[in-house]
Amino acid sequence: MSGDWKKGLYEGEPYVSGEQPTRPVIKLNTNENPYPPSPNVIRAIRDLDTDSLRLYPKQDGGNLRVALAAHYGISKENVFVGNGSDEVLALAFRTCFGTDAPILFADVTYSFYPVWCAFLGISYEIVPLNENFFPAAEDYKRPNGGIVLCDPNAPTSIGMGNDFLREILEANQDSIVLVDAAYADFAEEDAVPLTAKYANLLVTGTFSKSRSLAGLRIGFAIGSLEIIHALMAAKDSFNSYPVGRAAIVAGEAAASDEEYFRMTTERIKRTRDETGERLRALGFDAPKSQTNFIFAGCGTPQRARALFEYLRSQDIYVRYFDMPRVNDRLRISIGRPEEMDALISEVEVFLENERS
Ligand code: PMP
Repeated sequence: MSGDWKKGLYEGEPYVSGEQPTRPVIKLNTNENPYPPSPNVIRAIRDLDTDSLRLYPKQDGGNLRVALAAHYGISKENVFVGNGSDEVLALAFRTCFGTDAPILFADVTYSFYPVWCAFLGISYEIVPLNENFFPAAEDYKRPNGGIVLCDPNAPTSIGMGNDFLREILEANQDSIVLVDAAYADFAEEDAVPLTAKYANLLVTGTFSKSRSLAGLRIGFAIGSLEIIHALMAAKDSFNSYPVGRAAIVAGEAAASDEEYFRMTTERIKRTRDETGERLRALGFDAPKSQTNFIFAGCGTPQRARALFEYLRSQDIYVRYFDMPRVNDRLRISIGRPEEMDALISEVEVFLENERS
């Protein structure tokens, strides 16, 4: 064979997600929630009408969309749901960034953004964060084809907050500002209320972190009727039924259980703040996190990698990014208090071994 058939194959660089171990470990590498889903979710799945699985689900996510609208105190017409926020974000990139002008996003942010740009043929410019991983609003006051801000940011864990977003929105009324709020439920502020004022703002969110449903794949977007209509058209040009019946009933149950949501997010925030204190006391540079993970500075890339490998040898998985500016850090998801105790103990052993 000449091999000519390969000429049209996709050759882009894919996103690389955290390792999924096949045996039980302390898993602090993909920012999952250490607590089970709400008991209402477990009940909803147990009581699922399995005969109904013969039928396609509601195309717009049905009651899941309604429950999300109730949670945020908005109309369901302003809500879009999809199969995980990665899918929603990819659709949003396709929907919102259709001009030839480059879109803007930070140098240290969710590393899926450049992958979608390559996949969808969207040009982009990288805007460096400062030495404290904070963006300068001035850098976003120039012509662009759209702006993507992850707030709070991953993997830095730093929140920009709504005053910052407002400044960006005021200066960019001719393009769409996409805020990836995957971790906003662990932050002091979330951007959704800004969508009432700014029709060019789209905020995406996920049930994978604060709702303990990474395995079910539910993501959403909130924005003006114009953007949501365009997203629906994009969805119906790609996959009409992105959220299955089981995910709709479970997601509705999760979105409606405010008490469990508050209890688990508060618990994670408390463990996060305590773990941050403990890591700082051990000499690590851990900025104040607004997420369910800590971005711990280890001093040098060699030391970060050595600690990553040592922890892995002790069955504690954290995330190491071999990339410029962040290769001296580890991203550590927040687990249960006893898992964080085990982490800290092993970090202490590592430091002890370093000294001897
Ligand atoms: N945005 C950010 C910043 C993330 O870290 C993640 C999780 N990797 C996602 C979006 C996607 O989450 P999901 O597809 O599970 O909703």
